[in-house]
Amino acid sequence: MDLYLPARPGEKPCGGAVPEHVLPRIEGFDPSPLPAVISPEALLENARGHRLALDLDGVRIFRRRDFDRALVEAALAAGATPRRVKAERLERVERGVRVVAEGEGRVYDWIVGADGARGLSRRSLGLRPRGDSVGLGGSLSGVDSGLDWRRLVLAFPEMADAYLWIFPRPGGASVGIAYTPGRLTDIQARAALDRFLDDHLSPGWRDLPGPRYRYPIPVFGPWTLEAVRLALSRRILLAGDAAAVADPLTREGIRYGLLTGRWAAESLLAGRPAAYAERLESELLEDLEKAGHARDLFFEGAIGRWAVPLSRAHPGIRRVLNDLLTCRQPYTGLRRRLLGAAVGLSTSRTHTPSGP
Ligand SMILES: Cc1cc2nc3c(=O)[nH]c(=O)nc-3n(C[C@H](O)[C@H](O)[C@H](O)COP(=O)(O)OP(=O)(O)OC[C@H]3O[C@@H](n4cnc5c(N)ncnc54)[C@H](O)[C@@H]3O)c2cc1C
Repeated sequence: MDLYLPARPGEKPCGGAVPEHVLPRIEGFDPSPLPAVISPEALLENARGHRLALDLDGVRIFRRRDFDRALVEAALAAGATPRRVKAERLERVERGVRVVAEGEGRVYDWIVGADGARGLSRRSLGLRPRGDSVGLGGSLSGVDSGLDWRRLVLAFPEMADAYLWIFPRPGGASVGIAYTPGRLTDIQARAALDRFLDDHLSPGWRDLPGPRYRYPIPVFGPWTLEAVRLALSRRILLAGDAAAVADPLTREGIRYGLLTGRWAAESLLAGRPAAYAERLESELLEDLEKAGHARDLFFEGAIGRWAVPLSRAHPGIRRVLNDLLTCRQPYTGLRRRLLGAAVGLSTSRTHTPSGP
């Protein structure tokens, strides 16, 4: 199996936070030796000044360059052949796809398109971005600036479905705001981010080195399975951002990139590539549709306004929020568990996804 691996200038714009429970699901991939911030202390705050301290047990924050390199090494150890070139063109041929790179064309029966939000796979299928969120922010480095790099901060500013973050990670921090264009302008988002960082970082943060960026986050929606089915008709299995599978509420995409890659590989190995669409549907549709509804309730409804103060006062609700943020609580069953916690029923039940 060929793995196209062009040189990548710089770091992928990303917070790098991954729920730990997903990592053992990728066979042959052991991220435990990688530098990471593990289970950081977290501070949550809302627009009304309520604050809540939490231990985010079960989250790991990596630099993407470390994480991505380790993933590639695992793929090579499993037998993939590296092609250190960029795929430049995809052509339909009878019963296959020709991938053209540096003047050479190679024909494959099927290919996995895991080349990101604006990659060649989507472009070659004529797929336009739909419903994307945006991450605007930066990777700050410079540990001498007196910042508290160990604490993770999440803020909910009551600006449509936006949230702000500071994620500590080895050698610095990722900072940013996630929002949906059309619900918030870039100018509003940038101003909210500056205010947030002024509040939490020491005054010199604007001069800290590190790249700044604005980058799409393709979230799951009705367009996802449409695109995946169209791609399958052209013998391409879209995975990760190329398929638009990030969580619409948290905008977390690494977990779904890993899992869709695994499901694509399993469908190919089983000799049933077309079954990939059904696999995505059965694994993701119900939960991520619920995430889309939860996004509106959380950011623009009463739940979001009260989540922080209620969690402060109520240990059961605090546990639910903690499990949601560490991805141990799926959206399916969330409402029932919240109601149960509110009336003092079982508050310790969590769900750690562990299946294939
Ligand atoms: C600001 C920001 C913060 C985020 N924070 C988080 C977070 O904390 N946690 C989280 O889970 N998610 C986060 N996300 C989402 C997450 O980054 C993505 O969902 C995830 O990186 C998707 O992985 P991917 O492998 O599909 O795509 P990418 O990470 O974009 O990787 C695509 C790969 O394809 C390669 N490629 C592209 N074109 C070609 C070509 N023509 N030929 C060969 N190779 C090619 C690229 O070199 C790259 O290696 C964030 C996103 C943003 C924008």
